[in-house]
Amino acid sequence: MVVFVGAGPGAEDLITVRGQKLLRKADIIIYAGSLVNPELLEVKKEGCEVHNSAYMTLEEVLEVIRKGEKEGKQIVRLHTGDPCLYGAIREQMDALEAEGIQYEVCPGVSSFCGAAAALRAEYTLPDISQSVVITRMAGRTPVPERESIRSFASHQATMVIFLSTGMLEELRRELMAGGYSAKTPAAIVYKATWPEEKVLHCTVETLAQTAAKEEITKTALIIVGNILEGEYQRSLLYHPEFTTEFRKGRKEITQDE
Ligand code: SAH
Repeated sequence: MVVFVGAGPGAEDLITVRGQKLLRKADIIIYAGSLVNPELLEVKKEGCEVHNSAYMTLEEVLEVIRKGEKEGKQIVRLHTGDPCLYGAIREQMDALEAEGIQYEVCPGVSSFCGAAAALRAEYTLPDISQSVVITRMAGRTPVPERESIRSFASHQATMVIFLSTGMLEELRRELMAGGYSAKTPAAIVYKATWPEEKVLHCTVETLAQTAAKEEITKTALIIVGNILEGEYQRSLLYHPEFTTEFRKGRKEITQDE
């Protein structure tokens, strides 16, 4: 049996209880060494075989899984954050499926949640933005043209931009071409939840210089939007006049839960 486990954003105690139980039981752990905190592996049992996938190809990963599976071993494939985002798990799952190898997925706390906690931010605020766009700049991995930063920026929704810290000048241009003003609040969160975490507040205009000043070139998320500063409406959910399934309001304003 193979389980794809989300390791969480970095801090060793931000893996799920289920994920940690799986790590304790594993005979083989294949972890994404470029971003997974190695301290997470300290709970592994004696004799557990550990592979760092940063040095491996997909074929090599599959070979380790295949061999382990034949020997009836418990295998954990440990991915950073939650494996559903930029995790390259689909190609692994498809290969396992084709070979009739059973697998499951155990979710994790994505770094975009770790970054919100570090910022003490709420990505969705009434009247400001009720949507979060999770995206990236095109790098070696292309992004379909219809999903350009510029087109998403035109919605003025909260944006969380992965894998783009090395392209902040281009990112600024794209955000502004899409309609964000130079002064729109932005933030750079480096290694959210790790001991070396850094939270830098800036604006769309100053993204590149802010990162350069702190020498941040990778392992960061860029957050853009007016949720980071300024006015908003209080929520209806906790408003005294709002009726919900659980609580009767003073006046009958009923709305979505
Ligand atoms: N599956 C992961 C994302 C993997 S892609 C998740 O759910 O978080 C790798 C990118 O994620 C990095 O380039 C960086 O942009 C971001 N990232 C991962 N961990 C991070 C962290 N602790 N702090 C800030 N950004 C992080």
